[in-house]
Amino acid sequence: MADQHDENLLPDMLPLYYTRYFPQNIFCRWLSCGNNPKPLSNRELSFTLADDVYLRYLSINDQKEFQTLLQKKCPHKLDIGAVYNTKPSIDRHDAVVLARELVFDIDLTDYDEVRTCCQEAIVCDKCWKFMVVACEIIHTALRDDFGFQNILWVFSGRRGVHCWVSDYEARTLDSPGRAAVADYLCLIMGGENQNKKVHFASDLHSSIWRSLTIIDKYFEEILQDQELISTTEGLKSFLKMIPDETLATQVQENLERMPRSSLERWDTFVTTYNKYCKENINATRKIKYLVEEIKIQYCYPRLDVNVTKGFNHLLKSPFSIHPKTGKVSVVFKPEHAKSFKLEEIPTIYTLLDDSAQDNVQHQSNMRAAVKNFQELVFSLEKAEAMRRKNDANASLLEF
Ligand SMILES: [Zn+2]
Repeated sequence: MADQHDENLLPDMLPLYYTRYFPQNIFCRWLSCGNNPKPLSNRELSFTLADDVYLRYLSINDQKEFQTLLQKKCPHKLDIGAVYNTKPSIDRHDAVVLARELVFDIDLTDYDEVRTCCQEAIVCDKCWKFMVVACEIIHTALRDDFGFQNILWVFSGRRGVHCWVSDYEARTLDSPGRAAVADYLCLIMGGENQNKKVHFASDLHSSIWRSLTIIDKYFEEILQDQELISTTEGLKSFLKMIPDETLATQVQENLERMPRSSLERWDTFVTTYNKYCKENINATRKIKYLVEEIKIQYCYPRLDVNVTKGFNHLLKSPFSIHPKTGKVSVVFKPEHAKSFKLEEIPTIYTLLDDSAQDNVQHQSNMRAAVKNFQELVFSLEKAEAMRRKNDANASLLEF
């Protein structure tokens, strides 16, 4: 079957994919823009070859060289690194990182304690909703709180999404700046052994209220899909998030004697909580935002902050093939994340096999993904041209 994954077919198929489908021209334009003021050749690319052979510190001067390199090495996976002050090389220990897109990596495996439909590498349309919420929250924050414009969203190929911010201010952000952005966007704290991972001590920042408005659009669906409080185990972890013991006991008694529907149980919890707060004004300080904290813990994006904080963390390139699924890392618009269907994501097999059942659909989705990428690169080029013009004007005024 053409749409079934067989890693052994990749060596024959990848050269065709890179020539026919990989948007090499737009890709090089995207990287060139992101490299300014240094040339494209100062950007690190890395290839993963068959049998996990790993080539780091590759670089290209132009699209022609890129095409030759792709054909020669036939990478199973492509990653993008930072822009250095010199051509990247394993021997240049003194090389300094000058720029790098601000990147975010959100992976569904980090949701394994809240998602019940799948675990580990498996993903379905139910747990994809966590990614929909994540895209909307992160995109809105980057745009409205930080003023970024060039925000690229890419399907990671299996179970998550990557976000690349290419605005000049983002690319040249230093390490403490990156850490500050990551910390600002990170609300879920603590490891496996911590039951309650969200604590709001003072009044909530407007960005948290905004995130809650986004979560509320999907909360009931997720609550039911994931059966968050309908199972014995789910209910047990839920009760552990209630720090007030008297309230926790009341909630437990009320929920255990009712039907197992997560939605009905949630409504009963909220009613019990409101009543308890009214009757125990002195006890409410530490549970003032309990409902909000639980919603955040269930649905707020779980970021891999190390990827965002690090300067030279390599990240999988847009339109790279995921070697384990054959899926293309397509570029999508964040507002379309909710209509994203995992089975409609093009794979190298369906694209290259004219007789495959999904061939036509996948071809068309591939064209749409390239168009999304193109649009972003055009607007990035425009912004870069504008910035350079302003810089030139500013330096003229200095003389
Ligand atoms: Zn799932």
